[in-house]
Amino acid sequence: MARALNAVKSSGDLKQDFPALHRPVNGRAVAYLDSAASAQKSQYVIDAMSRVMTEHYANVHRGVYTFSSETTIAFENARQKVARFLNAKTDKEIVFTRNTTEAINLVAACLGQSLKAGDEIILTELEHHANIVPWYFLKEQKGVVLKIVPLKLDRSLDMAAFERLLGPKTKLVAVTQMSNALGTVVPVAEIAAKAHAVGAKVLVDGSQAVVHLDVDVQGIGCDFYAFTGHKLYGPSGVGVLYGRYDVLNALPPYQGGGEMIEQVTFDKITFKEPPYRFEAGTPAIVEVIGLGAAIDYLNGIDKAAVRAHEQKLLQEAEKRLAAIAGVTVYSTAPERAAILSFMIDKVHPHDVATVFDQLGIAVRAGHHCAQPLMKALGVAATVRASFALYNTMDDVERLAEGVHKVKKLFQ
Ligand SMILES: *Cc1c(COP(=O)(O)O)cnc(C)c1O
Repeated sequence: MARALNAVKSSGDLKQDFPALHRPVNGRAVAYLDSAASAQKSQYVIDAMSRVMTEHYANVHRGVYTFSSETTIAFENARQKVARFLNAKTDKEIVFTRNTTEAINLVAACLGQSLKAGDEIILTELEHHANIVPWYFLKEQKGVVLKIVPLKLDRSLDMAAFERLLGPKTKLVAVTQMSNALGTVVPVAEIAAKAHAVGAKVLVDGSQAVVHLDVDVQGIGCDFYAFTGHKLYGPSGVGVLYGRYDVLNALPPYQGGGEMIEQVTFDKITFKEPPYRFEAGTPAIVEVIGLGAAIDYLNGIDKAAVRAHEQKLLQEAEKRLAAIAGVTVYSTAPERAAILSFMIDKVHPHDVATVFDQLGIAVRAGHHCAQPLMKALGVAATVRASFALYNTMDDVERLAEGVHKVKKLFQ
C-alpha cells in the first residue's frame, strides 16, 4: 500500500517510496542516476494505475454505465491536475499526447499548415532531437528557414544572438526550458516576451523543466508547452501539450478519428473544440490517470525542499568531480539544475557507463538525442549523471567512487 501522502514531507526519505530503487544490481542497491532519460515510479503511482484496472476499467467519454463514468471522471480529473500543475487558465488547454515528441509533432503538423517558404523558425543549439526534427520536416516540405541560437563559452544561451535572429519573418521560437544533456536553464519568459514583440509564437519544451523547476505557463507567457509523463515519475505512453486556448482553437485538427469529431457524414465533418479536437482515438487511459497520480504525489511533498535537495546533490557531485584530475565537466552554465555531463580523459563514455554498471551505478553515455549540441561542445558523446528527488548523498559518493575506479582501470 502507498503511504498516506501527508506522511511524505521532506526529500531525505523519498527513496523508500520507489520500490525499484531497492533492487540490488551486481550486488549493491542500484545508484540510479539516469532519471533525465526516464524516472522511477513511486508505489503511489503504481497503486493508482493498478486500481483503475482492478476496480473500474472501461473506455472513456462513451459508456453511460458505472465503470465508464468512473474511469471518465478519473481521466478528466487528471486533466485538471495537469492544468493546475502548469498554472494553465483552464483544463481545455491541456491536450494528452503520447509524449513530448508527439506534442511537438502535433504543433509542427497543425501550425505548419499555415507556414510558407521563407517563414522563419528559431531553435537553439541546446535542443533535443524531438525539438529539431519536426521543424526540419517543415523546412523540407515548405521551405521554412531554421535559425539556430548558439551557446556562449559558458554554455548558456547567447541571448544577444537570439535578439539578432528575431525579425518580422520569425513565426515561431521553439526552445527548451532546461537542457537534457547539460542541465542549462533557459530564460524562457524573456524569450517569450521578445518573440511576441515581433509577432512570433513560442513553444517551450518542458520535458526536464517540469521535473526540476516550478513551472507557470501563464508566467512564462508561452503559446505552447510540452512535457512527457515518464520523466515526471509517471508512466510512459502519455505526454502533454499545453496550448493557450485561443491559439489551440485556431489550429486545424491533428489526426482524424473517433472522439475528435462533432458530426460526420461522407460529405462534411465538423470537429470538436480543444482539447478533444487533438485527441483522436482511445487515449492512454490508465497512463493518463497514472500521470495525475504522479502529480498528486509531487503535490504531497515539500517542493522547495526537493529543489534544495537536488541542488545540494548537484553541487556536491560537481565538487567531487572537480577534485579528480582528468575529468572534464560540460555542465557549466550559471543557471543549471540536476544534470552533470562529463568526460574522463582517454576513456570512451560507453566504457565508463559499462564499468559503472558493474558497480550498480546507472548513468547515460551517448549524445543524449542532442547531436548538434555535442557538435557545439566538440565531442561525440558525454557521460551524464542526472539527479532526482529520490537520490541521496550516498548516490553521489558512489558516482565519485565509480570515476576513481574507471581511472584505475584505464589510466
Ligand atoms: C526526453 C526529452 C524529450 C523527448 O521526450 P519523449 O518522452 O521521448 O518524447 C524532448 N526534449 C527533452 C528536453 C527531453 O529531455
